[in-house]
Amino acid sequence: MQLRDPSGQLRASAAGPSATLYVCGITPYDSTHLGHAATYVAFDVLRRTWMDAGLSVQHASNVTDVDDPLLERAAATGVDWRDLAADQTAKFADDMAALRVLPPHTYLTVTETVPQVAETVVALLRDGAAYQLDDGDVYADLSADPAFGGVAALDDATMHTLFAERGGDPDRVGKRHQLDPLLWRAERPGDPAWDVPVLPRGRPGWHVECAMIATASLGSVVDVQGGGRDLVFPHHEMSTSHARLLGTSVRVQAHAGLVAYAGQKMSKSLGNLVFVNTLLADGNDPSAIRLAIGAHHYRTDWEWTGDQLTAAHTRLTRWRTAAARRTAAPAAPVLSAVRQALANDLDTPTALAAIDTWTRTEGEDESAATEIRTLTDALLGIAL
Ligand code: ZN
Repeated sequence: MQLRDPSGQLRASAAGPSATLYVCGITPYDSTHLGHAATYVAFDVLRRTWMDAGLSVQHASNVTDVDDPLLERAAATGVDWRDLAADQTAKFADDMAALRVLPPHTYLTVTETVPQVAETVVALLRDGAAYQLDDGDVYADLSADPAFGGVAALDDATMHTLFAERGGDPDRVGKRHQLDPLLWRAERPGDPAWDVPVLPRGRPGWHVECAMIATASLGSVVDVQGGGRDLVFPHHEMSTSHARLLGTSVRVQAHAGLVAYAGQKMSKSLGNLVFVNTLLADGNDPSAIRLAIGAHHYRTDWEWTGDQLTAAHTRLTRWRTAAARRTAAPAAPVLSAVRQALANDLDTPTALAAIDTWTRTEGEDESAATEIRTLTDALLGIAL
């Protein structure tokens, strides 16, 4: 990931150099699992790295609190969908706080932004970038965006397959193109729906929600759009396309690898989930969980095992013992090595290794331990 633009210049504003980050949020219908945690911890390290570099950071995220999986779970369990969403959104916030993930500056749910999403859909319709079917549903016309396809760079067959697998409706009759994504869904019996101007009573589609929130929260440039790798297509491709038509460009797409458990990608549908709140309830130190995550480069896919958590606890104990020393090796070279590693596409394994080396080195510096504690706290979110 490039943290600077190709000319090597940071974007400057009257308030000094700045950076904007949009991280796609959760659909709140189940507890936070380690795959989610790894993604949010990765972008938290990015935000901390930017702050350390002196950038003024604006970070926005969303909560998809109206979506088919949420409504299906609510119906299956006999819970009101609003209660399920509110409950899981609060639990997610608790998990993130426990993991010391800095909260976004702007954090919006679909249900509190329906009028703005509807305005966005109307604007796309007005600009000829969207069209309405006979039943009132509105779709984006992807042919209005010549740059569509640049995020994922996939061939047509793969895009078609992933679109069908991940919430799209390629076979919907009446669409101009099979990949055109839903922007507004007219009310169906039993579905949540809102009255808005111009459009029929209904609810927003998924991708346009993120496009609107990113545009409204961060302005005309999103420096990094982040999320799990399974969001590359269609979600980031579509939301980036919508945002572009709304006048907001996304400079860098960054995607966290997927976390497997027991041989398969951790996913709700497979049921092989390791929940953050379970790990915390079992007494695991949140800093050990962050260390276990940080031992992997954020872009790689990896598999969670109990051994890794044990190793992270051992590492944390060693770091804490070292950081309690009265004298130690100087911190400045460690800080330099950690900054260099993080500037290199958030290379946390190398950053952690630099601190490992310090813990094993003796020295006479009386302020080093304090400086290392500050470094791990500020840059890595690790409390020693
Ligand atoms: Zn999103």
